[in-house]
Amino acid sequence: MRSVKFENKLIAPCKIVCIGRNFVEHIYELGNEVPSEPVYFIKPNSAIADAINYQDGLHYEAEITFLIQNGCIVAAGVGLDLTLREVQSRLKAKGLPWERAKAFRGSALLSPFVAIDSWQGLAIEAYRNGKLVQKGSVDLMIHKPDFLVEDMDRIFGLDDGDIIMSGTPKGVGEIAPGDRFELKLLRDEKLLLTFSVG
Ligand code: ZN
Repeated sequence: MRSVKFENKLIAPCKIVCIGRNFVEHIYELGNEVPSEPVYFIKPNSAIADAINYQDGLHYEAEITFLIQNGCIVAAGVGLDLTLREVQSRLKAKGLPWERAKAFRGSALLSPFVAIDSWQGLAIEAYRNGKLVQKGSVDLMIHKPDFLVEDMDRIFGLDDGDIIMSGTPKGVGEIAPGDRFELKLLRDEKLLLTFSVG
């Protein structure tokens, strides 16, 4: 099993539960409709990786992540929800499941986690080769983290060590070979962690 770091411990998440379309401006940039109920999908433990394994058509989505213990958010981080966008569009058009586009090996790049008391005020910034490409905060989320925990647990069951990827703000794009990303987790402008990945 693959692991993530939290307070010098290694934790092997059973699954990563993700929400699509949680930021209005990102919904518009992909030409999607605002869904009447949240769109969820799951990445398996085997999706976790610590570097980009480049392939054609790979797109980045920078997201705030949450670590669950005893049914609650205990820590936050950042990550890249890697997506094969053309494959996803093809599957969506046919009404087919998204796993090939979202749950493939190496599709979840996850930072170490930092303990938090509250998700209020959290924000993410994503830099691609030093240039700011994405920026968003929990204030802009349609479905807030408390709701996600409750709803995802009710539907899928959240176990200790499971991770939530809370959706991406606008500014997603295609990855070029050799791209490097720096993701920052902030609270009210204060830097909580930086995650560099390439
Ligand atoms: Zn995403």
